[in-house]
Amino acid sequence: MRVSVVGAGLGGLCLAQGLRGAGIEADVYERDPAITARFQGYRLVLNPVGFEALRSCLPPRWHPLLDEVVSDAYVERLALDPRLNKIGELGPARSGIVVDRHVLRCLLLTGLTVHTGAALTGYDVLDDGRVEARFAHGGAATADLLVGADGVNSAVRSVLSPRTTPSDTGVRFVIGRTPLSERFAGVSRAYGGKIAGDGVSLLLGAMRFRTPPKEAAEKLAPEVTLPDIRDYVRWAMILPPTGSLSGMTPQEAVLSRMDGWHPELRTLIEEADPDNSTLLSIRVVEPGERWAPGPVTLLGDAIHATSPTGGNGANTALRDADLLRRCLVEAAEGRQDLLGAVGDYERQMFEYGAEAVRHSLEAMPAYVPKPA
Ligand SMILES: Cc1cc2nc3c(=O)[nH]c(=O)nc-3n(C[C@H](O)[C@H](O)[C@H](O)COP(=O)(O)OP(=O)(O)OC[C@H]3O[C@@H](n4cnc5c(N)ncnc54)[C@H](O)[C@@H]3O)c2cc1C
Repeated sequence: MRVSVVGAGLGGLCLAQGLRGAGIEADVYERDPAITARFQGYRLVLNPVGFEALRSCLPPRWHPLLDEVVSDAYVERLALDPRLNKIGELGPARSGIVVDRHVLRCLLLTGLTVHTGAALTGYDVLDDGRVEARFAHGGAATADLLVGADGVNSAVRSVLSPRTTPSDTGVRFVIGRTPLSERFAGVSRAYGGKIAGDGVSLLLGAMRFRTPPKEAAEKLAPEVTLPDIRDYVRWAMILPPTGSLSGMTPQEAVLSRMDGWHPELRTLIEEADPDNSTLLSIRVVEPGERWAPGPVTLLGDAIHATSPTGGNGANTALRDADLLRRCLVEAAEGRQDLLGAVGDYERQMFEYGAEAVRHSLEAMPAYVPKPA
């Protein structure tokens, strides 16, 4: 069996690793010219389901490395004012496993065949049941199964399920990161919660590696190359609906909305890494219409993009990857035919994927500022 995976995000790479481990050939096609072509190194919180799915797709010899580059987080989810006084609580305290998305992608890329600069433009199902993917650079690839793991604007979805389209919530946020230091000890009570300002919210979270990733890989799995990054604080300012940067840099835009805020909070933004901040918009994809199982399917944000305020998009993409891997192993070992295996995957994925989107939308009002 040969599988073409479109998109080298967490979901696509996790699936490709899982298939490689099971002896199923999988090539990954990524639109970006390089894995580091744009800022994507934010911190994610994984729940036990997402983390277990990830582990199951990785070779067991990398589990010690994975455990060394994550950390356990327990946060109280306080609502604070801009002077860091408590004004409420967002809900019960939460725990989770904190990972850096870029570090995780580097781990997941190891040993895979990834074609960068390969933007899928369309595909055709051939007479023999296989599928041929077409790319913007003029090339093509034929496989038994094409998996669209190509994110919220999925080109695969636009052919497979053209009526399933992203909707823009209107919410914009600026995200960035700042090296973690003792100087920010005072802001640590805000981690995992919300600082409510005048028409904006600031969300903070710490990324602490048990061992710096590059060092951990050199010690535990020399065949893996991980980036040389250190602990940081991830910050995200949610702007009023349809907020824009108005010609400012992301840092300037955030600081312009922080007059009178606690000095440590201002310093945190002033000392941010300018190459690692950007403006993002929150769009969601709600899985609706089903299609007849065939040699093309979808995974992750391509079919159920959630709002980051739900903290479940990556968890659900990893769950998809592990579930699809298990279904394809059934087919590869002759216990199921390929279309039956894809159908089993889609039936379960549609159900929990829709629930994940619903949950993330319900969580949004707690974080999104009321108009000033
Ligand atoms: C700031 C922020 C914080 C978040 N925090 C959390 C969290 O704490 N917990 C959590 O569970 N989730 C979180 N999420 C959500 C999570 O990051 C996403 O749900 C997850 O990364 C989706 O993975 P994916 O593989 O489906 O898609 P993506 O990561 O979007 O990957 C898609 C890939 O496909 C490529 N691509 C696109 N079009 C094409 C094409 N035509 N041809 C080839 N390649 C293409 C893209 O370049 C990209 O590399 C957060 C998201 C954000 C933005």
